Amino acid sequence: MRSFSTFGHEVCTGCLRGQCATLELDMTVCSICEGVGLVRWMDAAGNWVSRPCECQEAEREQKRIAAAQIPARYKDCTLDTFHIYHGADRLLGAALTTARRFVDEYPVDTGGKGLLFTGSMGVGKTHLAVGVLQRLVRERGAKGLFCDYRELLKSIQNSYNPEVRTTELELLKPVFAAEVLVLDDLGAQKPNEWVWDTVALILNTRYNDRQTTIITTNYSDLPAGGGGLSDPERAAREPTLGDRIGDRMLSRLAEMCIQVKMAGKDCRQTEIKRARFG
Ligand SMILES: [Zn+2]
Repeated sequence: MRSFSTFGHEVCTGCLRGQCATLELDMTVCSICEGVGLVRWMDAAGNWVSRPCECQEAEREQKRIAAAQIPARYKDCTLDTFHIYHGADRLLGAALTTARRFVDEYPVDTGGKGLLFTGSMGVGKTHLAVGVLQRLVRERGAKGLFCDYRELLKSIQNSYNPEVRTTELELLKPVFAAEVLVLDDLGAQKPNEWVWDTVALILNTRYNDRQTTIITTNYSDLPAGGGGLSDPERAAREPTLGDRIGDRMLSRLAEMCIQVKMAGKDCRQTEIKRARFG
């Protein structure tokens, strides 16, 4: 069996987002087919028959995963490595169940819908989003793509610079084309008219094409403006996803995604403390 090293993720000046996944193939030759890619044998009638060797599917799977451009820091995020710690908020267990069910039902019963993971920083939203992406890419053969919202907007803005030879369309093409897109940290960019238009273009295109979009956001899925609140309440409240991407896109998301609310402690902080203090 041909073995593969895990794909790396290096900063690359040539790729569109400043980062790209590289597939490093270990050149060990498959011991079953000796690198031919086919297994041949003689049937009872004395005729040679053949079938593709199992190493071929493994190779295709690795290529699909590399093409999904999952950053190295998330490559071990799978549904199996998502641990529910003792005393965790029950929403975490429910979120994992929803994620697993989504994978089982994809694509027929999910009908083009995606997932919208909401919750505060560090509760594991990206872990679950990547976990779903990995399963769909590996097991369902889906063409997937991981995309950092802020990085994408930055790259698009950068493409307006005449010295940069990449165009906005070239950057958005893979985002539109991905069968399963993870859009990480939606709303992270300070909103303005241009941000709203760009988000609308991305979400509307994917919605119209019935492509699956999996989104994570630190903002609550509430409308903009804190309607119904008194002025002091409004001033003191946290911004919502409606504030960040506009209410029209918020209601678009309600149509295109299954809502998954998450809550709990910031696991990244806990991990940092553990690393610091042992
Ligand atoms: Zn083989």
